[in-house]
Amino acid sequence: MTSKVPLLAAFAKDLYHCSDCNYCVDAVWAERGIDHVCPTLQHHSPLMSFSGRGYLAAARAWFEGQELDLDALSERVFTCTTCGNCEQICPIGLRPAAVGRALRGELLQRNVMPQPVRDLLRAMREDGNPNGGARSDRMAWQQARTGAAAEHVLYLPGCAAATAIPAEAQAAVELMAAAGYAVQTLGNDDTCCGAPLFELGDETTASSLIDALAEKVRAASTVVISGLECARSWQRLNDANLQPVTFNELIMTALSTQRLHLNPRATLPPRVFVLDSCQSRTALAPGRALRQLLTALGIATTPSVDTARFIVCCGAAGGMPQVEPAAADRMADARLLDAGADAVVVGADPRCVAHLRRARRDAGPRVLGLAEFLNTHFTHDQNR
Ligand code: SF4
Ligand code: SF4
Repeated sequence: MTSKVPLLAAFAKDLYHCSDCNYCVDAVWAERGIDHVCPTLQHHSPLMSFSGRGYLAAARAWFEGQELDLDALSERVFTCTTCGNCEQICPIGLRPAAVGRALRGELLQRNVMPQPVRDLLRAMREDGNPNGGARSDRMAWQQARTGAAAEHVLYLPGCAAATAIPAEAQAAVELMAAAGYAVQTLGNDDTCCGAPLFELGDETTASSLIDALAEKVRAASTVVISGLECARSWQRLNDANLQPVTFNELIMTALSTQRLHLNPRATLPPRVFVLDSCQSRTALAPGRALRQLLTALGIATTPSVDTARFIVCCGAAGGMPQVEPAAADRMADARLLDAGADAVVVGADPRCVAHLRRARRDAGPRVLGLAEFLNTHFTHDQNR
């Protein structure tokens, strides 16, 4: 028999194996670096129905044919950052965050969603990004460059760097050029990879966006990206011939192979608080690489990379800033509080950097993207 909720049916195994252990609700385990799990429970509502366990329970009830109040359900499932910490912590490998996305997908198909989600989908359709900037302004930060470098890279800044913190995109281009690369972009053909739509539960449109972007970059020998949520779109595409490198990785390699030389401008900040992203917690590679890079430049970092595995989301992801902006700000404030007022906060993920900077207002530590930080505190050899 065909299921009336096919997106949920794909997770049938998860729906019937939850042991109700509550790890994804309230786990705290200092020795493992776990200090709570779910940002929505901590900063929006403590009700279990807003948790991964709650999403599994609601999905099972719907899958079994129970009549649910879909408006109430949509308020709950669209108030999730999709950070995946509940999956990271689940001792039996269930996928409550993915089930939450499937619930979103079922609701979208029935046109049931909170107004901010409707507005966000319209912004994606009309502007091609979740930040509200006009499509025609996406690459307005670009400056014409001259130079005769032989090795080309194609740079895809992603929506956050392109439209929310274009200074990060500009600084990234400058550093890549200093490392001897001829940096190209897609210009006005640059488009979203679909990550925001994937998180909202519209996997079909998200797939079509990454497919379209992939066709535009297929001829490039090296593709460099800034957004870590974009990195996951490329992973989902799963095309062995199309695996972009992150800006973080490229700069690390450029430094270790002496392509790029950075010299401190003046006294360096005594400490950098690394802004780990929930987009990179599984492999931990970006968080580790960022710490290695800063350490190689003589800068002490906190916190330890071990804490990144279970980091509680800063509120930038999953549509949270648009759907529940006050809760998203509280999530950001919590991370800024962890950093301490004397730290400089540096992130490799422009979406998190843009969100914390917006939430910081005039108080709290300075927040910089990696490229901005390097350009602010170091000079580099130009035109190698
Ligand atoms: S994905 Fe993140 S915000 Fe959503 S339920 Fe899981 S831990 Fe909470
Ligand atoms: S989803 Fe996993 S962590 Fe959460 S209550 Fe069920 S078994 Fe426990």
